Amino acid sequence: MAMITFIGLGNMGGPMASNLLRAGHSVTVFDLSEDAVAALVAEGAKTAETAHAAVDQAECVITMLPAGEHVEAVYLGEHGLLASLPADTLVIDSSTIAPETSRGVAEAAIAQGIAFLDAPVSGGVGGAKAGTLTFICGGEAETFARAESILSDMGKNIFHAGPHGAGQVAKICNNMLLAILMSGTSEALALGVKNGLDPVVLSEIMKQSSGGNWALNVYNPWPGVMEKAPASRDYQGGFLVKLMTKDLGLALDNAVQHHAAVPMGALARNLYELHAGQGNQDLDFSSIQRFYRGDDQ
Ligand code: NAD
Repeated sequence: MAMITFIGLGNMGGPMASNLLRAGHSVTVFDLSEDAVAALVAEGAKTAETAHAAVDQAECVITMLPAGEHVEAVYLGEHGLLASLPADTLVIDSSTIAPETSRGVAEAAIAQGIAFLDAPVSGGVGGAKAGTLTFICGGEAETFARAESILSDMGKNIFHAGPHGAGQVAKICNNMLLAILMSGTSEALALGVKNGLDPVVLSEIMKQSSGGNWALNVYNPWPGVMEKAPASRDYQGGFLVKLMTKDLGLALDNAVQHHAAVPMGALARNLYELHAGQGNQDLDFSSIQRFYRGDDQ
């Protein structure tokens, strides 16, 4: 069992840290939110006054932070953690951030002899709680091998996508495709229903036909078709529109840098920005169905 410090105990990080405790690791936690820290301390985690004090004994540091600027603030610069971590520390960043930001942190880590892995996740809050996340890692094979057993205490599928930043690239490709699939599925369902079709019957037909996809199989966006999907609880919880727009922004920025044409991704981004602008940013991303139904305000 390892001495792990977990920084960033939000919707994802909180349950991930809980799973590490349950697996028997010695976990020290740190977050700017005292309530988030208190919840983990109640489960048996240790804590400290500062991030620097929290990593004092750590063999492994894991971060799960909102965006690139938070990751840079925690690791880089005079007051960043990399300046004080011992050379053999394993550092895993599971935040979803731009690949070039992640590579910048990796380079700074390597310069100090610290092993760094980008390991963004797929699977959402449900997957974080259930310990069934997919980890998509970028970094050296040796670092991946060191991290694998710790990651498997929080996830089910652990992939090595390639060198530093590759985990972030794969993650933003996946989420761009997810946004396109969800928008396309919502569009097809809205067209069928406008023609008088039953959304349950239409969904079943498309599931068994060439339009079948993940949204139809497990996350149907039409209310009432799938009892457990966010659509059937007024799009509450799940993967929020504001997080999808963030990830689409990362994908589009990356496409510009690499001169990649992503017309479908650009369209999906515009759809989600419009939808977010109608006050839907805190709904699940399958609420894009409302845009097609004409339910957006
Ligand atoms: P969140 O906003 O719920 O949690 C982030 C936590 O980081 C907060 O508790 C905040 O207080 C803490 N924090 C911010 N700056 C800090 C600092 N300098 N030091 C210590 N703590 C700090 O976010 P989340 O939903 O848990 O998402 C975290 C990351 O995971 C994001 O990059 C997101 O894109 C990604 N992600 C989220 C989901 C999801 O469904 N929520 C799914 C996959 C990936």
